[in-house]
Amino acid sequence: MKIVVCIRQGLDGEINPFDACAYEEALRIKGAEITLLSMAPESARDFLLRLTRLGARRAVLLSDRAFAGADTLATAYTLSLAIKKLSPDLIFCGRQTLVGDTAQTGPMLSVYANASLITNVMSIERIEEKITCTTRDMGVRSVSLPALLTVERINTLRLPSIMSRVGKIEVWNAEDVGADADRCGLHGSPTRVIRTFENEGGRRKCVFIQPSELKSTVANAIEKGREVPDTVKRSEEKLPHVISVGETPLEFARTVCDKITVIDMTDADDIALKIREKSPDAVLWGSDSRSKELSARVSAMLGLGLCADCTELSVENGRLIMYRPALSGSIIAKIESRTIPAMATVRTVTESRDVIIAVGYGARDSLDGLSKMAESMSAEVLSTRKLVDNGYMPYHTQVGLTGRTVAPPVYVAVGVHGAVHHIAGMQRAKTVIAVNPDRGAPIFDYADFGILSTAEELLGEWN
Ligand SMILES: Cc1cc2nc3c(=O)[nH]c(=O)nc-3n(C[C@H](O)[C@H](O)[C@H](O)COP(=O)(O)OP(=O)(O)OC[C@H]3O[C@@H](n4cnc5c(N)ncnc54)[C@H](O)[C@@H]3O)c2cc1C
Repeated sequence: MKIVVCIRQGLDGEINPFDACAYEEALRIKGAEITLLSMAPESARDFLLRLTRLGARRAVLLSDRAFAGADTLATAYTLSLAIKKLSPDLIFCGRQTLVGDTAQTGPMLSVYANASLITNVMSIERIEEKITCTTRDMGVRSVSLPALLTVERINTLRLPSIMSRVGKIEVWNAEDVGADADRCGLHGSPTRVIRTFENEGGRRKCVFIQPSELKSTVANAIEKGREVPDTVKRSEEKLPHVISVGETPLEFARTVCDKITVIDMTDADDIALKIREKSPDAVLWGSDSRSKELSARVSAMLGLGLCADCTELSVENGRLIMYRPALSGSIIAKIESRTIPAMATVRTVTESRDVIIAVGYGARDSLDGLSKMAESMSAEVLSTRKLVDNGYMPYHTQVGLTGRTVAPPVYVAVGVHGAVHHIAGMQRAKTVIAVNPDRGAPIFDYADFGILSTAEELLGEWN
């Protein structure tokens, strides 16, 4: 079985963690003949060669100045040219990179490479004429080969053995793969970053209170929170016509348009057809796994730029302007699409109870006590990614850039450090109460009330 594993080197010089899992999963397939594929500067040569020691016989490095600055669509196009030359039965990608965080390249590549697609793979069940996988939140899926899988963080990449040998590496440039210069790199990318600025969202002035004041502060905040409407900033200028795929992006669509057509989330072919028929100015999608997969496929089918995870939209000179957190949420990028309709997935708020107790890694040993405290106030227990990654809580409880976005009347963060990634998912909460013994923890910059105490002390006071 011929397998291509798409690899990206992270900013830390290491393999992107999701790609590492994809590679490991490919290595576990008996009789697999693996080729690693990466689009990167020539300096990535040694990095790729090192990885061949784990079992891939060959690595292909797509390297050309014409490829630099590519967005997800241009990246997928360029990778697909190499895939066509390699003609594998299976293509493995990580679900997403930690740099871009969009989860778009895999689904886009599946379209350009004419491969079936299964996203968010948790395990491979069978490979016969079809490949069957269990996915993170779309159940068991079966598709015919050739197929592309995007893999979750499900395993640990093996280490090379002392006896292992490096494979061979080939460097292919634009001419080698017959690339169309108008579809590669920055020049061929339909989305463009206009400017970036520091992400100041969610910052608040923190008033410090005693642990004994938590109960009354929560009660007051619930009352206050119910009175304050939850609003997304509205654009003064409007677009003539916007399509909302499903109901979830409606809240965002209303900020930029008065004439909105809602279409059902059917399949990529049907949605692409409707977009062609209705020729809107913009198409908005939710940010659940299915929307992410479909939007990326439709983007490749129609050659339209797609901006992921927008937190705000506006209209300037008749064009949609999209804002999204970048560089792990520390900055906001202002983005426009050179293709029309502009397409964006928007970070919509998920339903929650009035009070959320968000448990961070610092409070991991108090999880039971905090769950009881939550029960006594009908609150929901959610968590940070560190708690999820370490197996204390399931993924669906993760709040943040790569998890849920919530906007409850009250958000009590216990043992949460306040990383920008986490803040991205909770900054729309009406009142934030942070509990942390470290006065310097950034969470206090995003909290209305602060309690300088450990989770254990807080629970002692509560009981
Ligand atoms: C691309 C990317 C995406 C990410 N996406 C997300 C995301 O969606 N959501 C997310 O949450 N993170 C995300 N992260 C991870 C994020 O950067 C942080 O690593 C993570 O949020 C830290 O979790 P934490 O605050 O629970 O743990 P830590 O950073 O370990 O902080 C623990 C805190 O607990 C405090 N503490 C210690 N002891 C106690 C005690 N006894 N009682 C109370 N407090 C105590 C400490 O002072 C500290 O401030 C992402 C990272 C990357 C690179």
